[in-house]
Amino acid sequence: MYHRLLRNASFWSFLFDVDKDLAATQRQQGCPCGGRLHCAHYPRQPRGGPDKLPKEYGYRLSFCCDRDGCRKRATPPSVRFLGRKLYFGAVVVLVAAMRQGPSAWRVRELSKLFNVDRRTIARWRVFWREHFPQTRFWKVARGRFAPKLPIASLPRALLEAFVHKPDSREDWKRLLEFLSPITITGGLSIKGVS
Ligand SMILES: [Zn+2]
Repeated sequence: MYHRLLRNASFWSFLFDVDKDLAATQRQQGCPCGGRLHCAHYPRQPRGGPDKLPKEYGYRLSFCCDRDGCRKRATPPSVRFLGRKLYFGAVVVLVAAMRQGPSAWRVRELSKLFNVDRRTIARWRVFWREHFPQTRFWKVARGRFAPKLPIASLPRALLEAFVHKPDSREDWKRLLEFLSPITITGGLSIKGVS
C-alpha cells in the first residue's frame, strides 16, 4: 500500500531534510554574479500531507543574492514541491498513479484520503499524460528506462520503476530526486518553447 508512508509525519520530516541538503548545495554555489545567497524562504501551505505537520515542513527553501543591483532569487530543486502545485509533489504522483491499473482506486476513496477534489485529480492525470511527456526534462530522462515507459501509464510506471517497496523512504527519495529538476522555475517548460 503506497499511501501509508505518505500519511506518516516522519516521511515528511525525512523529505524536508533532503530538501535542506539540496538547498545547502545551491547556497554553496552562490549567485552567478559572485554574490552570496541569503535565506529568503517562502511560507507555503502544501496540501495532501497528514494533519498537523510542523509549519516549517511547508516552507519552500529559497535564497536571494545579497548584491545590490542583482538580488536575484535562487530556488533549489525540491523533493517536496512540484512547481506551483498546491499539493505536495509525492501526492500529485501517487494519487494519479492510484487511479491507474487493474486495481485502480475510486475517486471518492482518494478524495477522502488526501483531501483532494475530483477536478484536481482529473487535472493531475492530464498533467502526467499530456504535459509532462512534452517537457524537455522527460524528452531526455525517458532515455534511462529500458524498456520504454509508455506515456499512457504515467505516472504509475514511474512509481513502479523507483518504488519497489511501498514503505521505503529511500525508494521514494530516489523517485522524487529524479523528478526534482522539474520543480524549479522553467523546469516544466515544453520542448521547443522557451
Ligand atoms: Zn547575484
